[in-house]
Amino acid sequence: MNIQKTITCLLLLSWFIGNNLVAQDKYSLSNDDITIAFEKSNQDRLEITDLFNKNKRWITPDSRDTDFLWQVTLENDKSNTSVYSSQMVKLKEAKETKNDKEDLLTFEWEISLSKLTGKVYVDVSLNKRTSLSEWSIYLDLPDGWEVTNLLFPIINVDKEEGTKLYTSSGWGAEYNLDKISNLNLQLIYPSSRQTMQLVCMQDGSDLLYYATHDENANHKTFSARVGSSVELSTDITASNDWTKNNKFSVPWKVSIGLNDKGIEDAIANWYRPFAINTIWGTKTLLEKDIPEWLVSTDLWLHGGRAGKDEMDALTKTLEYFGNDTKYHWYYWSSHEFDVDYPDYFPPRTDYDKIVNKIHSAGSRVMPYTNGRLWDTTTVAYQKLAGANEIVLRKNLTPYVEVYASKAPNAVVCPTSTVWNDVVVDFASRLLDEKINSDGVYFDQIASARSLPCYNENHNHPVGGGDFWHFANREIFNNVRKVLKKDQIIATEQNAECFIDVFDTFLMGNRPMGAEWAPAPLFPLVYSDRAILYGFYLHNPNDMSFRLKNALTLLWGAQLNGGRSVLYASDSWQNNATFLREMKEFRSKQHDLFVGGRMIGEFTPEGDNPLLTVESWPTPSNAVRGAKWISVDGKEAILLTNFDTNSHEIVLPNGQKQLLKGGECYRYNL
Ligand SMILES: [Zn+2]
Repeated sequence: MNIQKTITCLLLLSWFIGNNLVAQDKYSLSNDDITIAFEKSNQDRLEITDLFNKNKRWITPDSRDTDFLWQVTLENDKSNTSVYSSQMVKLKEAKETKNDKEDLLTFEWEISLSKLTGKVYVDVSLNKRTSLSEWSIYLDLPDGWEVTNLLFPIINVDKEEGTKLYTSSGWGAEYNLDKISNLNLQLIYPSSRQTMQLVCMQDGSDLLYYATHDENANHKTFSARVGSSVELSTDITASNDWTKNNKFSVPWKVSIGLNDKGIEDAIANWYRPFAINTIWGTKTLLEKDIPEWLVSTDLWLHGGRAGKDEMDALTKTLEYFGNDTKYHWYYWSSHEFDVDYPDYFPPRTDYDKIVNKIHSAGSRVMPYTNGRLWDTTTVAYQKLAGANEIVLRKNLTPYVEVYASKAPNAVVCPTSTVWNDVVVDFASRLLDEKINSDGVYFDQIASARSLPCYNENHNHPVGGGDFWHFANREIFNNVRKVLKKDQIIATEQNAECFIDVFDTFLMGNRPMGAEWAPAPLFPLVYSDRAILYGFYLHNPNDMSFRLKNALTLLWGAQLNGGRSVLYASDSWQNNATFLREMKEFRSKQHDLFVGGRMIGEFTPEGDNPLLTVESWPTPSNAVRGAKWISVDGKEAILLTNFDTNSHEIVLPNGQKQLLKGGECYRYNL
């Protein structure tokens, strides 16, 4: 035991003694894995004073400076707004309840609202089955008042040297907090910024788990503010459906837990058991009805504007990478990119030749569309009164996004039946015999931020809530009804609540900030349930191309080589060879990737240097590895040396193995 750990133990011992002596204004919950302590301050304000297990104290006086537990914004029918936090009001009462399932603390505060009184309650319990603490908030409201926004629960934890922060952006992201002095991550769920409902911190193998297990996938923002300490909270836009008979409650709990085995253990024991029992996570790949051609795909390429260059690139890449290479075709429409949505027709001249070429090779093509945006300058927008169908902000102005094309693209509210029909119609036309696509890609659905909507004429309660998830689910399940045999639908990114609605997911986006490394949180939960393809769309011709394709393979996704025209250039020869060999290797690992499951990362010992990689935010070991369990329960380690130099690493059995530059290797355990 080192000196710091000894001091921590003494501090914990003194806290226990102190707690026993003064019980009246101190409250705590404790089991073998976690202790949470609260204290009523001199001004009768409730503070979280401690959060620890046998190894580590996460909250100390250093991290407590700005500590408050909740903040609530309320509004009445005369548009008066009040904001209260647990720093502003005295704790009125605290109650302790114990039963077979949980130990529970209930805290109560009174707030004053235009001479009327409301009450705020917070429940913190320890679940005896999972060892997780569960935090919930609810209010009693006077007539005419509603809650519009909450921050809850807010915890400030220490940022000791070596601490990492994990978010579920895309694949998952790991932030080394030693290098970050100021970062404000606002992670909207569901979106590519937060594809799952968890944020974790890890110090050595000690982990703090902050998650919601919300089976309805309600809109919410996970907030992580990194300064001298780290403030974690959930920013909640309320739905007006959450107030009934003057009682308001948030329809999920926040789970906070501590372990001493790290992120992979927390995901296996806490998050995955929740995830695989949700509407989206129940079925494995083998239980879904996914066309064989998609399941067996190892490599995708992207096509551009139909023309001689694209046709030449198509011919060359089919020959070089094989006729089983699949094509995701971006510029197939006669309209410009991100303009005139959803008017895609007719296709560009010669697009039919491209489709024919791909089909005659025995391969497949999936054109691009956008499932979320409606260009407000289109005829259809006027004709179908699109303005009635789009998302309204709280101030009732339309939510319009402008991208590089400069077109005013309104975000359509997914509860719109008009939009449902528009999407089903253009998808049907793309899939019919005339255009003959093998699938349709809908941009943004599992990527772009979900939004609250305040249009009172829409078929959903105004504000946040779960309508975004359920309404999009309905639209794309309706699209599924027009799919014929061997046709698929795909979308951008991997927000978890859509993994059962689409067949495959394009992993195009990077996490926020400058200092991060991708981490395979999503595959640790869903690698046996979702087919992903690609890894960050930008493709510089350098070592980053090799590293990201190595991770694509190791983490179970289908490879994505980017634009097919890239491979027309001799300068791409080295990376093209690397990609082709990876594709060949991947085709022999389907017992792991189709129905098997990733269970962890593996970094081999031996000659495995940390490399600085161009166009990549953080250094990486030359040889990366991943541990998988196959469909029939056998474990294997996959290794990839993405470097151009050879490296001799040590296998788990102690034997040395030379991996040439770009070589992949499988070791059966
Ligand atoms: Zn709406």
